[in-house]
Amino acid sequence: MTEDKWSKVRESIEAEQDETLAEIQRLREALKCELEADLEEGDPHAYERETILALPRNLESKQYSLSRALSSMEDGTYGICEICGREISTERLEALCYTTHCIECKAHVEKGTAPRPAGQLTL
Ligand SMILES: [Zn+2]
Repeated sequence: MTEDKWSKVRESIEAEQDETLAEIQRLREALKCELEADLEEGDPHAYERETILALPRNLESKQYSLSRALSSMEDGTYGICEICGREISTERLEALCYTTHCIECKAHVEKGTAPRPAGQLTL
């Protein structure tokens, strides 16, 4: 049941995971060249290097979210908001397959207003 419900989403997560891994790999290669070049030139691009260094980190955290989404499918908690415990809408999951927050909680997180922790369900 759960398997069928999410099979399409699972496919897109797996595809996205492949892409992300390839991108991380590509950036690491690019980064290696950049770092070697900087050493020779006496590090004139420190700021740019910071920016480039941040990219694989962002991708790695995305990769982490994707693999968490997959494992939550295994244990049947996929599509449940981490904060309020309600189901995340299918449209939202299809648009952002690795999200762990429903649209309401996401808005709270972005605004910095503290949402109620899971387990204290209120309307
Ligand atoms: Zn929520």
